[in-house]
Amino acid sequence: MYKVKEIFRSIQGEGFNTGKESVFIRFSGCNFWNGRVEDRLEAKCNFCDTDFVGVNGKNGGNYNLKELIEVVERVWDLSFSLKKKNVILTGGEPLLQVDKKLLDFLKKKNFTVAVETNGSIKTDLDFDWICVSPKDPAHWNQKKGDELKIIYPQDKFNLKEIVNLDFKFFFLQPKDDSLMKLNLNKTIDYCKLNKKWIPSFQFHKAIGIQ
Ligand code: SF4
Repeated sequence: MYKVKEIFRSIQGEGFNTGKESVFIRFSGCNFWNGRVEDRLEAKCNFCDTDFVGVNGKNGGNYNLKELIEVVERVWDLSFSLKKKNVILTGGEPLLQVDKKLLDFLKKKNFTVAVETNGSIKTDLDFDWICVSPKDPAHWNQKKGDELKIIYPQDKFNLKEIVNLDFKFFFLQPKDDSLMKLNLNKTIDYCKLNKKWIPSFQFHKAIGIQ
């Protein structure tokens, strides 16, 4: 069974594919935080802005493979039926649950499949797009993909070194905390001076969509 917090349609709000119409499958659970507010300070990343606990979100549930695909297709058909089908596997940490059977089935149904991962679990699955956003250098194992996204600032990462890894695009995204304005300025300044890094903004938040 796949534990899914929610399934919804929206546009990708950040990174290289900003604006791309997609169905998002948000898998329940993460290996970097248990999702409890009282445990946030001990989490590997304590700035998480996502509710990934449980299966009680929109279209959430415990699904077998066939049921999960049916929900994804239904959600897609509600809005985007004439467009190229795209699904984004996110979380929580999706690679705790995503397997070859699910990927193959989605592709058989003509979806392109992207994954957004914290990079702690190495994968050789044949995704169409891999976005890695590491939060802890000591637990970073997936070091190649399409898009690397660093939440900034995070002193744990040496940006000058990791910019040489095997990714096509390198994004810095301002950390969305009480210092957001300052983080935004720092992000822009760093990217101006270091051209390989591209600023990423969370447009879905700015325009008030999920
Ligand atoms: S890895 Fe991602 S989903 Fe997990 S706690 Fe950190 S920010 Fe949240």
